[in-house]
Amino acid sequence: MYQKRNWTRFYRILVLVAAVLLAAGTWAQGQELTIHFLDVGQGDSILIQTPAGANILVDAGDTRAGNQVVVPYLQRLGVKSLDMVVITHPHFDHIGGLIPVLEKFTVGRVLADGQIHTSRTYENLLILIDQKGIPFRLARAGDKLEIPGLDEVLVLNPQEPFLKGLNNNSVVLAVTYGETSVLLTGDIEAEAERRILEGNIPARANILKVAHHGSRTSSTPEFLEAVQPDTAVISAGADNNYGHPHPETLVNLKAVGSQVFQTSAAGTIIVVSDGSSCRIVIDN
Ligand SMILES: [Zn+2]
Repeated sequence: MYQKRNWTRFYRILVLVAAVLLAAGTWAQGQELTIHFLDVGQGDSILIQTPAGANILVDAGDTRAGNQVVVPYLQRLGVKSLDMVVITHPHFDHIGGLIPVLEKFTVGRVLADGQIHTSRTYENLLILIDQKGIPFRLARAGDKLEIPGLDEVLVLNPQEPFLKGLNNNSVVLAVTYGETSVLLTGDIEAEAERRILEGNIPARANILKVAHHGSRTSSTPEFLEAVQPDTAVISAGADNNYGHPHPETLVNLKAVGSQVFQTSAAGTIIVVSDGSSCRIVIDN
């Protein structure tokens, strides 16, 4: 009798330990930040999946990429809704794909630069946001965004008065999760980089989405020196008409010791962080 009771107790403990281990495993899985730099050809589209399960989409490439890359990619991941969509600036290679995305997914809110631009695509996008009643908020330097699962999301750009050119007033986000920091720069150029540095907000980041597809008009040595990225991601189309990324940018990135990944060569680039270290996964 005594023996039997002992065995029952043993099994109870065993079941309890198994349950705890299972829960810990699930918990550990849920503690990762995943950032997908989608291969949208010439353009940008970045999906941030936070450890708390929030989904944030920053740009969606052009219309073709939205339909053929971004929407199927989100569906494949099982994304049901987007907590936030960020419009960095109104150029076609960033916003065209947002129309099919907004047509297919529920969106909690839109964060945007709010520049005036009169292209048909931008007008259609703003009409769609309005028709769907999606809350629309402007991003301005110094704003802090509350995103579940992330330690900090800081807006570094734009600020008013705006700089010259749509690119320079792109929304720039600094995302922090534990010891991992990611800087998403849209298409900012040297003027905006200078203004960010003058703002005295630390721009240091492990991961840098290289500004403006690796154009020589961005990624100045001063800016890269301040950011000191271990990993740099360039989102550009193979053999694009602009010659992106420009050789000068690659030289500047090499000078600060960055490991450079390009969507044109690697396809979609995924950064996974557990809050202390990062790993890069290539998704072909
Ligand atoms: Zn662009």
